[in-house]
Amino acid sequence: MVPRLRGAVSHDQVAALLSDLVAIPSVNPMHDQTTDPPFGEARVADYIEQYARSLGLEVTRQPVLPDRHNLLITLPGRTPNHGLLFECHMDTVPGWSGEPDPFDARVVDGRLYGRGACDVKGTLAAMLLALRLLVDRDLQPPRPVLLAATVDEEYQARGVRRLVEQGVAAESAVVGEPTGLTVVVAHMGCIRWRLAARGRSAHSSRTDLGVNAIDAMVDLLTGLRHASRSLLQERRHPLTGAPVLNICTIHGGVAANVIPEECIVEIDRRTIPGEDPLTVDAETRALVAQLAEKIDGVRFILDTPFIIDPPLDTAPDAPIVRAARHAAEAVLGRSSIGGVSFGTDAGTLTERGISTIVFGPGSIDEAHTRNESIALEEVARAAEILATLALADTTEGQPDPGRRP
Ligand SMILES: [Zn+2]
Repeated sequence: MVPRLRGAVSHDQVAALLSDLVAIPSVNPMHDQTTDPPFGEARVADYIEQYARSLGLEVTRQPVLPDRHNLLITLPGRTPNHGLLFECHMDTVPGWSGEPDPFDARVVDGRLYGRGACDVKGTLAAMLLALRLLVDRDLQPPRPVLLAATVDEEYQARGVRRLVEQGVAAESAVVGEPTGLTVVVAHMGCIRWRLAARGRSAHSSRTDLGVNAIDAMVDLLTGLRHASRSLLQERRHPLTGAPVLNICTIHGGVAANVIPEECIVEIDRRTIPGEDPLTVDAETRALVAQLAEKIDGVRFILDTPFIIDPPLDTAPDAPIVRAARHAAEAVLGRSSIGGVSFGTDAGTLTERGISTIVFGPGSIDEAHTRNESIALEEVARAAEILATLALADTTEGQPDPGRRP
């Protein structure tokens, strides 16, 4: 019998822990090498390690990049079988220029403000408080609970990649991101390519001598946009909508009086559950080749994708989904299931056969914004739901008796 945990976590407990997590900056250095404050996750990792050790939990560090470690915290279960993974990133995006000190955590009207409050230190706090609740009440879960606090989600997700490379002893997982306490079972993946157009430079008064790479790229992109729009609208996933394609960066030309010889764009293609990245790559290549054929004098080069992130597509009746919904119902009196468009670390975990949901307090609309905030109430309820979930058997694999096959 799983105990009722509603009301077990107070707003004060959330405010104390979350203020500390927000006040320790852990900005992703992106392409920069520095881990000097406010960059890097090292100081927040030190804090979390100390917090977990004070609960008597085992903590190990997994090196990912210089001075950037994943932190693995284990709460033992009654059996040593593969357990339940809570995965949550420690890094945040930077503060925006003109923003008052984003690391000055403050509580106003029941909401905590500061960089990372919503994305995703609120969920990290909820996961830590869930472990604390289980330890304080001497509640041992049936299987081990592993909390992986990872690095680099906001840039190249090298933290979660290292986690799965090293092998993670988990059968099911909760990836922490703001979902407003909805159990998310589907999200888009993404593929990104660089596409270059190569023409010939000349004095800008002598168009007869040059081949303008920017003009050619504009023509190709116009065709690509039209062709992909009608193609992608035909594909729809009930929880994520249709796939999308966007041109997100463009560079070209050297001076206002030189016909540009090169133009490079980055293409971002969001894939929906069921789309195979290799097929999408081949399809995009064929489309670009077909359009390029009609443009004279310019060579188009589409590189192999520099990012392929898988979509998330967990069955709505998977044991982890049912257990999470039961836990939400026990705490909130209701539960909801859904899909989101943004990508998360969950795709990488499912690729390794770990049955995964995305779940956390807060709204994604707050993420990466000025004046980011989260409701203390939602974080407290999230902690109770996660603790309840940890106590459930997430692996029974029995189909719901009320469900038709
Ligand atoms: Zn996030």
